[in-house]
Amino acid sequence: MASHGIRWAALALLVLALALLPLPDFWITQLNYIGLYSLVCLGLVLLTGVAGLTSFGQAAFVGIGAYTSGWFTLNLGLSPWLTLFIGLAFTVVSALIVGGITLRMSGHYLPLATIAWGLSLYYLMGNLDVLGKYDGLLGLPSITFLVWDLGQGRGFFVLTWGLVLAAAAAMLLLLDSRPGRAMRSLRNGTQMAEAMGVNTLRYKIVIFVLAAALASISGWLFAHFQRSINPSPFGLKMGIEYLFMTVVGGVGQVWGAVTGALLTKLMEDQLQVLLPRLIGTSGSYEVIVFGVLLVCMLKFLPDGLWSLVQRKLPRKQRVVDWTQAAALPQRSQPAAGEVVLDVQAIRKKFGGLLAVNDISFQIRAGQIVGLIGPNGAGKSTTFNLITGVLGLSAGKVFFRGEAVSGLPSREIARRGMSRTFQHVKMIPDMTVLENVALGTHLRGRKGVFAAMARFNRVEEQQLLREAQRQLERVGMGQYLHEQAGNLAMGPQRLMEIARALCTDPALLLLDEPAAGLRHQEKQDLAGVLRQLQGEGVSILLVEHDMGLVMDVCEHLVVMEFGTLLTEGTPLEIQNSPQVRAAYLGTEH
Ligand code: ADP
Ligand code: MG
Repeated sequence: MASHGIRWAALALLVLALALLPLPDFWITQLNYIGLYSLVCLGLVLLTGVAGLTSFGQAAFVGIGAYTSGWFTLNLGLSPWLTLFIGLAFTVVSALIVGGITLRMSGHYLPLATIAWGLSLYYLMGNLDVLGKYDGLLGLPSITFLVWDLGQGRGFFVLTWGLVLAAAAAMLLLLDSRPGRAMRSLRNGTQMAEAMGVNTLRYKIVIFVLAAALASISGWLFAHFQRSINPSPFGLKMGIEYLFMTVVGGVGQVWGAVTGALLTKLMEDQLQVLLPRLIGTSGSYEVIVFGVLLVCMLKFLPDGLWSLVQRKLPRKQRVVDWTQAAALPQRSQPAAGEVVLDVQAIRKKFGGLLAVNDISFQIRAGQIVGLIGPNGAGKSTTFNLITGVLGLSAGKVFFRGEAVSGLPSREIARRGMSRTFQHVKMIPDMTVLENVALGTHLRGRKGVFAAMARFNRVEEQQLLREAQRQLERVGMGQYLHEQAGNLAMGPQRLMEIARALCTDPALLLLDEPAAGLRHQEKQDLAGVLRQLQGEGVSILLVEHDMGLVMDVCEHLVVMEFGTLLTEGTPLEIQNSPQVRAAYLGTEH
């Protein structure tokens, strides 16, 4: 942590040194613009790079920050320091409205909606009399602090870059935290994150608001730097340019935002002089070059230019500083023999296909129940129905005496039901430890602001300790800092089990956990399952390895073509002619 502090102090000193050095004013001004762009791009890193949400409308939020501050300083004579917060308030409210409507939409609707939003705000700014129509607002006051004028030149440089550094530091802290891990899980679909208890829509909205707030701060700075504003820098063209900068720099990386802003600004200056000379008439031809560059970047260097720098930097080793952390509190397990799961005639129709047809069974506390059947029998669909990943067509599910049918999967997870997926769902570019720590989401409380201010250290250490403990329990202790995407199939499955265990479940649902495991790993897995059983955890196991199933399960439920074929002890099932017939030609 100490080396971290030193690095940030060095960056802050660099900013001060640049301000004190006799750099030509021209370069200070350029760097000022680069800082303004960087702030917006930082928001886009979070929005597009981290959460996978594409926005062409960030310039509109810059405009809200600029116009709000402009109008209130001019018309009410308020200090820019006050209007900064009024601008932020306007921004947050509009981001909540726009985000609340659009973030529920899937896929391509969001970028389209942000285009519409960017365009409409641009025309609104250009047509409102109070905002000076297309002439805008003139004669805005400069930003001053005590006796210093921070609105121009070097003062502005220190203010802007101070804010850029603060925002970058806050964002790096955020991404390496409980809410940050939840945010990083959004890009790969929401199913797994929801099953770990993450309210994905809420996090998307929070990200949208944060990105808008950064844009708004940039707009505030811009307005009082230029001392006049008009709608053109807040239009769709600029919205696209912000996205371009971020993609060029590296949309998934905090420092990619600054890299992109820097290179784009420098290139734009050169091209604006060069291109009209080449072509012979004046015009914004640089846009064409940017377009071509963007396509090339996406094809040949999708991680952006910062990734080239990053490869040269030494890989950061995570310091394990949580060995002394207190253990997390655990939920009380149901009493032995209590009915933990009661599935009553659940049914799922996919169009004309009845994938699950009136399935009923019970699981008692401390039982390991096997759900078996040929491929396509409906086992995974049954899992999805019980855990709330899919909606029921009919039937009821009771968990620990409470009806949970109809609840979202995160609410079911909160009540103590956890699962793995037949097709492993993980975040490949997070470490194994971080992936597993996602499972502790519901056991922590610290949110976005606590993470940014490092008020989350105690809890964070507890969560990471728990993640490490569960990884060690499944025999994955040597993989903590490995990138999850580098794991082979077997270890990936074990990682998922560790993640599910991090939720402190009363009922664990494992979908083919032994697929891809070696013989010894299967033996170890059986050991872990028995140990969990000893702790009072109940387990529902879907598995094709009959050796493992017969070994650990005390009760089996057999499905075929969506219906319940039979149920009984492993011995009864093994001797059942019905089951033999069902399996003939498919399994043993
Ligand atoms: P199992 O896990 O026992 O192999 P599944 O539950 O995955 O079986 O699938 C049961 C049946 O439902 C299969 O015929 C499968 O093709 C179908 N199915 C599963 N999921 C969907 C879906 N999302 N949409 C349409 N059909 C599905
Ligand atoms: Mg399946």
